[in-house]
Amino acid sequence: MMKWKRRLCALLCAGLICFGAAGGAEEGGEAAVQNAEDEEAFKLAEALVKRFEIYAENYDASEEEWKSWETIVADSQIEKWAEYEAIPLPNAWFDCHWLPGNVYVISEPLHEQLACAFLIPGEERALLLDTCTGLQNIREVTELLTDLPVTVLNSHDHFDHIGGNAPFDEVWCYNDPGAVSHLKLGPTGKEMEEIQNREKSVRVLSDFFGVELLDRIPGKAPTGTVEDGQVIDLGGRKLEVLHTPGHQRSCIMLADRENGLLFTGDMFYPGLMYCMFDDSSFPDYVRSIRKAANLAREIGAEKVYTSHNLPEASLTDLERFADYLEGIENGEITEFETEDGYRIYQMDEVYSFEMVGEGAEPMTGFSVPAEGTETQDE
Ligand SMILES: [Zn+2]
Repeated sequence: MMKWKRRLCALLCAGLICFGAAGGAEEGGEAAVQNAEDEEAFKLAEALVKRFEIYAENYDASEEEWKSWETIVADSQIEKWAEYEAIPLPNAWFDCHWLPGNVYVISEPLHEQLACAFLIPGEERALLLDTCTGLQNIREVTELLTDLPVTVLNSHDHFDHIGGNAPFDEVWCYNDPGAVSHLKLGPTGKEMEEIQNREKSVRVLSDFFGVELLDRIPGKAPTGTVEDGQVIDLGGRKLEVLHTPGHQRSCIMLADRENGLLFTGDMFYPGLMYCMFDDSSFPDYVRSIRKAANLAREIGAEKVYTSHNLPEASLTDLERFADYLEGIENGEITEFETEDGYRIYQMDEVYSFEMVGEGAEPMTGFSVPAEGTETQDE
């Protein structure tokens, strides 16, 4: 319990200090001013930690909940997030950071998925790549960031990317009948369990911060679909759609050639990547990652923007990952661990890859069949 508490306190402190530091003394501020503000932020953080300690003492949480929080806090990589320029938000549920290339990343630090959505402004409209879990209204955040009309485009149709679609007028996804149905229906019963999983303790921090979470995440029928190679013109900024199936059939990436940016969605990010769903395909995954690595090099993207854990990864790592997957495919890489029948390949300390092993069944409940073929599971 103590170890968990220390880590959580670190998370609370870092969050608050980032917030405090981002709030002022940016332009021409003297070091003394900055120090005074840091000190003030520390004091606030200390008070917050005290308050949380009292709260935790009285909180009726199971041992499992404390443990899972320890994992979430350990995975949250606060120090690395602190390197990005934070944009203060009034809502503790979301974090927002500004990234090179005029891109905002909006994340949910209190949810175990640690999913990232990207707001990409052009001159006439902005594109929001993904909307996180939908437990809170992400549109309230985008409205603080831009006055432009916002079009949502989902990198694929998993719950932690489509959850916040409903409040937006324009919502697009890849032209896949299953994805279209999924967006329309919203998260499946299985996905709702993942979103709200009590043992994974989303409730602890949301309760502490007084953030009220939705019980039901509404779907939204897409108002448009995109194809491989399609160019989306935001006015003064063009984004190119790359169909990259593997993790899910509907996976796309987005390339901003002029600014040398590639958004990789769930196909590539620092962490454990998944290819064990009933609509995953390993051969597709291998081809898609090579295609992405080639394009990233072609457009001079030294870093790519990623959808979980941290908002970016290096081109070098993406290329290494392409080689690694090809190594698995051609039988050169044979070392893996087995968990619940699934194989976990560890490329290095950061990147790993999970796929269905021999005799195991793919994971179901995270996609829906195309409309007309079957009904949703709940
Ligand atoms: Zn996904």
